[in-house]
Amino acid sequence: MIKENLLAIKKSIPETVTLVAVSKTKPIEDLKEAYAAGQRIFGENKIQEMVDKYDALPKDIQWHMIGHLQSNKVKYMAHFVDLIHGVDKFSTLKEINKQAKKHNRVINCLLQVKIAKEETKFGLSFDEIEEILSSEEFATLENIKIIGFMGMATFTDNQQQLKEEFSSLKSFFDIKKTQISAINCNLKTLSMGMSGDYLLAIENGSTMVRVGSSIFGHRNYNA
Ligand SMILES: *Cc1c(COP(=O)(O)O)cnc(C)c1O
Repeated sequence: MIKENLLAIKKSIPETVTLVAVSKTKPIEDLKEAYAAGQRIFGENKIQEMVDKYDALPKDIQWHMIGHLQSNKVKYMAHFVDLIHGVDKFSTLKEINKQAKKHNRVINCLLQVKIAKEETKFGLSFDEIEEILSSEEFATLENIKIIGFMGMATFTDNQQQLKEEFSSLKSFFDIKKTQISAINCNLKTLSMGMSGDYLLAIENGSTMVRVGSSIFGHRNYNA
């Protein structure tokens, strides 16, 4: 099933959109099945789980951290993580920079923007992003690179609301893209859309979708 699901999703999205297979909570065998079907980008939301899977699987996989970050755990993934989606604090960005430097790497990051109206969702406001990107200290961070933004829409079936949330981020992204050119900031990726809303997200400018349950089936958090 995993293979069929993957191929069906790939078919439904444009080639220019990157598919992140969200494999959190799923066993290694499931990831191997997706790998055998050609998938090379996997997303996890817990650092320890991602490290364990990294150790167990082929090294041509690109690992994306999509979860909320705890600064003190960044060091465990700094040697291999390919893209960190959920950066929502300047202090976290500085910690990523510090850990990347130890490995002589530049780690790609997305700033997480709060687009949902729900109180529970993490993320920076547009103003906070402006503040970070224009700060003098940001310009000194040589071991991180901001390559775009990530957003999570409200958990709702209201298509109009979802569309508004996605397109507000897309507009902000387009403006910043033309305004900012720095060695450590080159905005080209807009990560939005999950199993329930990825097609709508793509219609509204997403370049990277994070799809879990539509590929691997529903997650059982009690397992
Ligand atoms: C779990 C998760 C996803 C995938 O969710 P599905 O609805 O299973 O596709 C996407 N993004 C983030 C940040 C997640 O935590």
